[in-house]
Amino acid sequence: MNRQALDELKQQIPLMGYLQAHDWSPARPLRSGRWMGLCPLHEDRKPSFLVDTNKDLFYCYGCGRGGDVIRFAELYHQVKFPEALALLRQWCGVGHSLHDAERFYRIQLHRHSEAFAYLYQRGIRSWSTIELMRIGYAPGGCLRGWLTQLGHSLPALRQAGLITGKGYDAYVRRIVFPLEGNLYGRSLSAVAPSHRFLPGGKGGLYAWAQVQRYPEVILVEGLFDCAVLWEAGFHNVTCSLGTHLNARQFRQLCDAPRTVYLAFDDDPNRSGQEAAQNLSRSLRERGIAARLVSLPEGHDPNSFFVQGGDARQFQSLLEAAHP
Ligand SMILES: [Zn+2]
Repeated sequence: MNRQALDELKQQIPLMGYLQAHDWSPARPLRSGRWMGLCPLHEDRKPSFLVDTNKDLFYCYGCGRGGDVIRFAELYHQVKFPEALALLRQWCGVGHSLHDAERFYRIQLHRHSEAFAYLYQRGIRSWSTIELMRIGYAPGGCLRGWLTQLGHSLPALRQAGLITGKGYDAYVRRIVFPLEGNLYGRSLSAVAPSHRFLPGGKGGLYAWAQVQRYPEVILVEGLFDCAVLWEAGFHNVTCSLGTHLNARQFRQLCDAPRTVYLAFDDDPNRSGQEAAQNLSRSLRERGIAARLVSLPEGHDPNSFFVQGGDARQFQSLLEAAHP
């Protein structure tokens, strides 16, 4: 890649936008387009990470590292220069096609009553939740045409995982939730695998930018758990998309003093409960207060509300949660 191509890539990805997409938020403004915040590259307690939006450069007074968006990607993802470039290029292209796919799926939701029926049955009944979580529906078989018409190339769509190697839509009859840099698809059909993600990571904790300001946070496994709690009026809820937290999700939970309520599934094989216990131990080692929420046998937060549980009852489960 020559100098000019590098500059073009950097122009397409303003440093601030990239940082924010990776859950960085500025803590305070300085003069002339410069911001301070916590350093995402080392464990930072008071803001020592400086971002200059005019020059598109960063510098950390704590760990002494600095540079442009490419340097940041190298350090953040712990990769070498060529891989960082590949990641950034992919982030540009994939981000764009995911965004267009999300818009398409949201339109489709209005055209398919089976999708609404499914959401209703899973306890998602208010329009504001659907809007807020930007929920869509993938009927299957028409995304490719829409996206190629918008100018996306087939190889790019394959790379994003939206289209299969044979050229079909990857998501068929799935409720779709946009994540950061991915789309989660929940199958309506009992024969297909229930949960699917596109290639690439599941990203950080769901809606962390909004949730992180609460001193008490409820952590659940899935998006449907999140949605019903949201509808019941609990806004301090996030989900890890599975019982296993990736390193970034764990770091997020530990980024400030807080109490974390772990409301994982009460599975018959105890996997949810065991994962919650392990996680609570790791959180406590990092000085974060963790409480285990016991749901009635065989329930997850979603089924608890779908089968008649209400906010007051869930509140008493929170109050009864133990370390
Ligand atoms: Zn630092």
